[in-house]
Amino acid sequence: MFALCGSAAVWKLTAEATPALRTKEVPLLEIVHHHGDPFQQFPESFPLQVAVFWTNPGPDPENPLPLVHSLKEMGIPFFITRDLPQALRHRLVILYPSVDAHTFTQPQADQLTSFVQQGGCIFAQNVFWGGLQNLFGFRSFAPSRKRYHLAFSVTKDPVTKYLNRPEERETQLGSDHFREIIWSNGYVPGPGAEVLAHFDDGSAALLTNSVGKGKVYLLGLSLLDVVLRNQSNRDYEAQRHYVNAFEPGADVWLLVLRAWYEAYGKDWVRLATIPGGQRSALLLSHDVDWENSFAPGLDFARIEKANQASSSFFIQTKYVDDANSKAFFFAPNLDILRQLKAGGSTVGSHSIIHSRGFNKFELGSGHETYSSYQPRGLGFDTASGATVFGEVRVSKELLDGEIPGQDTIFFRAGHLRVPVSLPEALERSGYQFDSSFTADDVLSNFPFALPRDLGFEEDSEIYEFPVTIEDEESPGFAKRVPQALQVILANAENGAVSVVLIHSNESILKAAAEQDLLRQLPPDVVKTDMLTFAKFWRARDRLQWSLTATSAPTGAVLQVKSDESVSGLTFEFQRPIATVTGSATMSRDNRHLVLPELAPGHAVSIHINYLH
Ligand SMILES: [Zn+2]
Repeated sequence: MFALCGSAAVWKLTAEATPALRTKEVPLLEIVHHHGDPFQQFPESFPLQVAVFWTNPGPDPENPLPLVHSLKEMGIPFFITRDLPQALRHRLVILYPSVDAHTFTQPQADQLTSFVQQGGCIFAQNVFWGGLQNLFGFRSFAPSRKRYHLAFSVTKDPVTKYLNRPEERETQLGSDHFREIIWSNGYVPGPGAEVLAHFDDGSAALLTNSVGKGKVYLLGLSLLDVVLRNQSNRDYEAQRHYVNAFEPGADVWLLVLRAWYEAYGKDWVRLATIPGGQRSALLLSHDVDWENSFAPGLDFARIEKANQASSSFFIQTKYVDDANSKAFFFAPNLDILRQLKAGGSTVGSHSIIHSRGFNKFELGSGHETYSSYQPRGLGFDTASGATVFGEVRVSKELLDGEIPGQDTIFFRAGHLRVPVSLPEALERSGYQFDSSFTADDVLSNFPFALPRDLGFEEDSEIYEFPVTIEDEESPGFAKRVPQALQVILANAENGAVSVVLIHSNESILKAAAEQDLLRQLPPDVVKTDMLTFAKFWRARDRLQWSLTATSAPTGAVLQVKSDESVSGLTFEFQRPIATVTGSATMSRDNRHLVLPELAPGHAVSIHINYLH
């Protein structure tokens, strides 16, 4: 009798705490450090490359990662060097991160000046040395941490070509709730220099100066502060909105560099951001974080298929009851997941307990596993027994175990709360992609390599795809479709992407609104699930390519090598193309070349014949 009661009690407890779910083992990976030598990582290989002269390699180096992010995201070819004559053999040179009295000798300063006089172009930030004052066109500068706004001037200068919208013409550098924000250097222009952007105190933020046949640009900010700091979410709340609005505060600098390259590069070629010669991409996603959110997911998938689209579902693998909700990661919900996957939707993890306190969780050991991990939400913000590793790793064990053919490599945090240890927990658990920030919060609408520890030193293996549009902000997605379209169009103008998040908690209003949005999309905005685009973006980001002229005046050879399979890679050319060899295809404007699917590790050579 006693024994029976005892075993019944044990059975009941086990059934509630750990329903029998299938798991697949998730190996704990070691972190791979790639940093090493930026000169070897980004070597000189063809004349069209922008030469990055790294001015501060030590003893307390400021690494070139912010510039590397900017140039790679824009598809601008570059190499990094400490050899000034090597740099000056290229037409376009960037001095990074700053120039002070110790950077150059007087003979080197003279070389820089004659380089520009003969038609060379330099883009530099934070030049402090009086010895280069005349070249860069400033009288003086004043450092400050109290400049909060920046406005571009009305000018014909080509570097502001892409900055047409009010949100691009003026940006915020930090919230005025902070007594001090990022460092800026406000310049007083010298005679002949033109001010292209100024700070709120009237000093110049971006200057240009023509010297002989060449031109220089000088920025009084660091890309560390206006690009990478935002991407790592360590900015001083520089964003003007949190979500659902167009916030290009970091992107304006990427676009200035792109416009600079296109204005002064000779016969330039750029690796486009969007596959298939298209203008932009809409990345569709759903969060499934409630017991009744599974079945409506099938309606969304059906409507997407009918509109030639597909989406990614981020699944909360809730297998414990807690203060926030009952468990719901079991049949028949699991059957729905299998149907979604079999129907062509892709599946990612949306954690286990979906805590608003996730950003404060401890990293954990990395040995958390389904049989032992027992997290519980105590309220929205608090939890017991929960770790970052646990949420990331055990949810993958379950999704991979319960869905045939599933390999979970995409993550989205509950409530979009991001702990600094998230990149590490993700990469060590075998993930590749994340979508836990909002685009407005990171002030960027391009995907990016997520820095390890959300710092400034090195990239993790994870790529971030921040959320642009979500469905819950008042008055709800169904009433915000025209606004969403405006944001999507603003991003499309920049070759940026838009990520849409719709919770699948109901499929009447929201699915109709999604269909409405899909039907109004311009035809050159690709509709895709997040995983498909993420794989494209990573292959693009790691692509090795070069373009070299042949002896014929209208000939060139494009060489491309990808470590992973990728299709639709697109190159944009300054010169119109007449013919190409192989199975690459040209767009109607003759300036976009779309590559065939590349096999992993194979180098492809495409011979190009320009129109003139
Ligand atoms: Zn959620």
